[in-house]
Amino acid sequence: MTGYAPPIERLIKEFSRFPGIGEKTAARLTAYILRISDDDARRLAESIIEVKEKIRFCSVCFNLAEENLCEICRNTARDDVICVVEDPDSLMVIEKSGSFKGTYHVLHGTLSPLDGIGPDHLKLKELLERVSDDKIKEVIIATNPSVQGEATALLVTKLLRGKGVEVTRIALGVPVGGDLKYMDQMTLSKAIEFRRGM
Ligand SMILES: [Zn+2]
Repeated sequence: MTGYAPPIERLIKEFSRFPGIGEKTAARLTAYILRISDDDARRLAESIIEVKEKIRFCSVCFNLAEENLCEICRNTARDDVICVVEDPDSLMVIEKSGSFKGTYHVLHGTLSPLDGIGPDHLKLKELLERVSDDKIKEVIIATNPSVQGEATALLVTKLLRGKGVEVTRIALGVPVGGDLKYMDQMTLSKAIEFRRGM
C-alpha cells in the first residue's frame, strides 16, 4: 500500500478482508470512517463487539441465536418439517417469505472438495440426529441450485434414505413474472425437470 498513515493502512487491510470488498472499496469505507463523528465510530465498533459477544449458533438448528435456542426452535407451534439451508442468510430469506412454518437446519456450507470442504465440515451428523430423535415427517432441501448445492442435496438425500422421512427438494425454475425467451438454459432445464402435475 502507498503512503497512508499506519492506522489508516490497518483499517483498509481489515475492510479488504470482508467478502466482496476489494482494496479500492476498502479505502472508500476507511475514508468514510474518517469523516464520521467519534460517537458514530464508537457505535459501529461497539456493535461489532456486541454481535461477537452475544450471538452464537442455536444448539438445535445452527441458526444465529441470542440464547441456546433460536427464536424459531423456541416456538413449539412450528410444523414437524425441517428445511435444510446452506447458511443463515438463506434461512432469513425463506422465513421472510412467510411460506414455511416448519423449522430449519443450517449446514454452514456446501460440499466443495476443491476447497477442502467435505461432509465432516457440514452440520450433517446433527441433522441425522434430529431426524431420528424428533417427530420429523419431512425434510425439504433448500440448498442453492449451484454445483456444490446440488452435490450437497444429493448427499443429504442419500444420508436420509431409509430414515422414515420424506425428502423433498425445493422447486427450481422460471421466476414469477419471467419470460421464457429470456431464461437461461440451466433455469429452463431445471424448470422442466422439476415440473409438477396440474
Ligand atoms: Zn434453532
